Amino acid sequence: MLTDHRLETLFESVKIGPVVAPNRFYSVPHSTGHGHLQPNGSIGHREMKAEGGWGVVSMSITEIAPDSDLANHPMERLWDDSDIPGHARLVERIHHHGALAAVELGHGGMRARNFTTGLPVFGPSAGSIIAPEFPVSAKAMTKNDIKDFRKSHRMAARRAKKAGYDIIYAYAAHNISLLFNFLELRYNKRTDEYGGSLQNRARLLKEVLEDMHEEVGDKCAIALRFSVHDFSSDSILKHNGEGREVVELLSNIPDLWDVNVSGWSRDSSTSRFDPEGFQENFVKFVKNVTSKPVVGVGRFTSPDTMVSQIKRGILDFIGAARPSIADPFLPKKIQNGQIDSIRECIGCNICVSSDSYGIPLRCTQNPTVSEEWRRNWHPEQVPYAAKSDSILIVGGGPSGLECALTLARAGHRITVAEQSSEWGGRVAFESKLTGLASWYRVIDYRLLQLKKMTNVSLFLESRMDLEEILDFGADYIFIASGSSWRKDGVGSVRRSEISDFSNYAVLTPDDFPSKKILRDTVTIYDDEHNYMASTLAEQLAKDCKKINLISTLPSIATWTQYTLEQQRIKDRLLELGVNLFTNIVLESWNGLEINMSDSDTGKLKKPLKSEYLVSVSGRQSNSCLKERLHNDLKTRNIFTSIGDAVTPGTIQMAVLSGHQSARKYLEGENAIFKREVPQIYI
Ligand code: SF4
Repeated sequence: MLTDHRLETLFESVKIGPVVAPNRFYSVPHSTGHGHLQPNGSIGHREMKAEGGWGVVSMSITEIAPDSDLANHPMERLWDDSDIPGHARLVERIHHHGALAAVELGHGGMRARNFTTGLPVFGPSAGSIIAPEFPVSAKAMTKNDIKDFRKSHRMAARRAKKAGYDIIYAYAAHNISLLFNFLELRYNKRTDEYGGSLQNRARLLKEVLEDMHEEVGDKCAIALRFSVHDFSSDSILKHNGEGREVVELLSNIPDLWDVNVSGWSRDSSTSRFDPEGFQENFVKFVKNVTSKPVVGVGRFTSPDTMVSQIKRGILDFIGAARPSIADPFLPKKIQNGQIDSIRECIGCNICVSSDSYGIPLRCTQNPTVSEEWRRNWHPEQVPYAAKSDSILIVGGGPSGLECALTLARAGHRITVAEQSSEWGGRVAFESKLTGLASWYRVIDYRLLQLKKMTNVSLFLESRMDLEEILDFGADYIFIASGSSWRKDGVGSVRRSEISDFSNYAVLTPDDFPSKKILRDTVTIYDDEHNYMASTLAEQLAKDCKKINLISTLPSIATWTQYTLEQQRIKDRLLELGVNLFTNIVLESWNGLEINMSDSDTGKLKKPLKSEYLVSVSGRQSNSCLKERLHNDLKTRNIFTSIGDAVTPGTIQMAVLSGHQSARKYLEGENAIFKREVPQIYI
């Protein structure tokens, strides 16, 4: 029952064409990395959202035909009738919880590489496909190709209806869509009725929407997903230009507008670059142009912001991809007044990185994601313990707190001892870096839950050595002592120690923020390649005379390409005047001058003057305590290391490790691990 009546509007039903959504919570199409290859995982993931109260639950891009093969990304498929049963099962599971099921029919156009089908890639005109590293050109579609495409789209819509979907999408967004390619002058150079004026370029999209109405519109709502603004400098689809004109042109043809911005890196922007609700300025015009309901996104996690979006007439539905991954039960928690139990998305894009690799989603906040079917993990429930054990957790960082929460929910008696004066381990420091404040939600969420529980004791400034651990007499011990940055320069490219490092005051991220602000020239050496070096550079650039950032790889912050941040990181560093050096390995430092060489050839470069050197290379587990426990006969069999104390990784990996270890303790021999096994036909 809704406890806060200010939030009532979020739980109103809304009509979409011939169907009615039970509330305004709309889980928009997003890939899960399961796709057609792992249908059970895909169903399990989406059913959880329906159970959690999302009024509409959507499938990701669903390829309509073999000439839209987006592999290596395992998307959904409705290529032929053999795909219908899997979709029908998904729809049944979503309907079981009272939600509507939506499917986003898509043709990747110039972004579909057709790796596995070997068919030509289609575009409105000939030209390089939208994957610059891949040397293939798109074929300009003939009138017959266009006819075939319309037929494929119509047939896929027919199959979607047969599967039982309530809402069927046409997809013209994110530059991953043939329909979007036709709209864009930079790709569409046609001189026939499908090229030239915007009216002509939008013709195919209009025809497809009309085909869908004719084919399935009696029972199914027709939705259009459209990027009203593309950030590319050579795109003229802007929210105050052609993007708006497309909405005006098609205004009431779809039953629902699902609007966003393009490219995908801007739509799925991280909290480092954009706050909650960041798309409002781009999409707010849409409701003035159409009388049909509008769904939009913006990493919404605050109920007040959601209500404001509805009351101010910006949106009719609160769309969410990432917030629905981080907390599938967000709607139910709002309804039940459990606002402080929402696992708010932190905007880190680890989920997106999974998609970039074409593997099932991982999430920093929600360790149960992608494990709903495979391991039978539920984000809100754990098996109840038959007997309440006394469990000691040493370390109050992401893995320690997640482990504590999972075991406390099961009914065990938990004690968490953190040696520092602050909860959070590495997250306490990292969330203080420029742009990363919302990362502390990982700690906030867990601490808030733990503090409400009577079977949990939390202690700060409580360093424990072996003797104290033995005296404590716990039934079981989890060591979550984290990791430290290496001080010897060993990283991912340079594997040997830099001997001079020990002679001079080389800093590492562990020395921040306690060190006095560095005012002279600071060089940051990145042989890790995630966010740390660039965030430190960004932070220090405000106070220091000169910042150099050296990367051992040919690009800056290389791994952040998977979180869609790399280009914006580079742009921001250049704006701040940071000097960027790439493909360079550090050889030595004498306290004043850095000697370096080319990463590939080993050829020495001109030395670089620098008063300070910050080394962001590898990390090492803090292993002293776990070694002592292992060497002691009394504790050898009653302890486990978790998180970075096992081996350093991302914060997401630390949370998953804490959760996984707790589940292992709870489930023991009863743990489930199912596999999706392909069927053999020959
Ligand atoms: Fe949000 Fe990060 Fe989880 Fe993605 S991985 S849903 S961005 S918390």
